Amino acid sequence: MTGREPAPAAMAGGRSGGRPLVQKYGGTSVATLARIRRVAQLVAGARRSAPGVVVVVSAMGETTDRLQAQAHRLHSRPPAREMDALLATGETVCAPLLAIALDARGVAAVSLSGLQAGIRTAPHHRRARIVDVVPQRILDELALGRVVVVAGFQGVVADTLETTTLGRGGSDTTAVALAAALRARACEIFTDVRGVYTADPRLVPDARRLDGIGYEEMLELAAVGAAVLHPRAVEIGAAHDVPIRVRSTFHPRDAGTLISREPPVEPRQKVRGIAHQEDVAKVTVVRVPDRPGVAAAIFTPLAEAGISVDAIVQNVGHDGLTDVSFTVAAADLDQVRELLPGIVSGVGADGASIDAAIAKVSVVGTGVLGSPGVAARMFRALAEAGINIEMIAASEIRITATVPAAQLADAVRALHRAYELETI
Ligand code: ADP
Ligand code: ASP
Ligand code: MG
Repeated sequence: MTGREPAPAAMAGGRSGGRPLVQKYGGTSVATLARIRRVAQLVAGARRSAPGVVVVVSAMGETTDRLQAQAHRLHSRPPAREMDALLATGETVCAPLLAIALDARGVAAVSLSGLQAGIRTAPHHRRARIVDVVPQRILDELALGRVVVVAGFQGVVADTLETTTLGRGGSDTTAVALAAALRARACEIFTDVRGVYTADPRLVPDARRLDGIGYEEMLELAAVGAAVLHPRAVEIGAAHDVPIRVRSTFHPRDAGTLISREPPVEPRQKVRGIAHQEDVAKVTVVRVPDRPGVAAAIFTPLAEAGISVDAIVQNVGHDGLTDVSFTVAAADLDQVRELLPGIVSGVGADGASIDAAIAKVSVVGTGVLGSPGVAARMFRALAEAGINIEMIAASEIRITATVPAAQLADAVRALHRAYELETI
């Protein structure tokens, strides 16, 4: 195609043209060149009605997994800095491909890296937090009437210009952070499902799509495993009041799910959804002297290393000794293994064990902990399904139980049925 589409009227006069739209397309949506072409078509459509469009892309398909596996074939614990430099390349490839596909349709576009897009992060590798967005270059490009395609998931440390990545699934966070910085009208997260469901639709075929959900419940669902949104993206959305709409690339006419301050309808049920996490492990510090300060001595080194723990259980002590168990993300296990010997000797325990064959299932909804019967129903449903609960953790709006990994799918389905979520 040779002709260029004119710049949308609102942008033609400069940068005063109203609030832009931010769209993000995930890995499945850009997995092949044919899909990138299809995304270019959707972006071209969006540009006709928005005064400016910023598109954030993930790496194509399974690229990030493949790069990670390659590094692990060379090294059992590849240096974090090099992993960031490596993993960032997935998005670095995809952004210009989409800009090229847009140009081929006659849509003026420019691709920007995280650095060029002004994504500044804390000086940590692998799970860096965005601390600032300097969007001047994006504003300049929008003023020229271009669609701006930003490589998601990557940022830089402001003073060193070291490349960082935002954690798996972090392109969502790039998109919402840009939407906040640009005061965008909305942030649309295009993915491979039609929105946010009452449970992962891949595990629960009769899960229902939610029309709307508030930031707080969505944050909790995301934090305990609902991979459809990166938790940090929801946090930034809530802090800056960015309406986030999760939509399907493959059914673009569907309205999807709106995540916003006010859910459009009051939930009829206390329980909004069930989330699950497979990639977790249980760590037990065995025969710990039962005296004050021991818990701090176990958890402080983990906290200092940035490792979050959940579902902490201290078994009933005997002989003045007790076992302390907790769960961590499987991705943190290598680091935990390194820290454990120091922790064990520091508290005078006998040793430590790790069980990776566990999983977590969570029931999420405003006020669940304070609602009589919600917890009881959870435990009864799991018991009736023959599933043994080992550990329990709770917040105001969630109850989490660990279950054997092999029974995870059964557990999610049993809970979905127990709260009749298929009928909402
Ligand atoms: P993308 O590559 O587009 O970012 P992800 O794989 O990160 O996509 O997220 C979408 C996936 O999230 C879906 O394919 C689905 O299996 C999973 N998922 C987990 N929980 C939920 C939920 N409650 N609602 C919708 N999808 C969910
Ligand atoms: N490509 C990165 C990942 O696979 C980031 C993302 O897709 O959001 O985790
Ligand atoms: Mg994702």
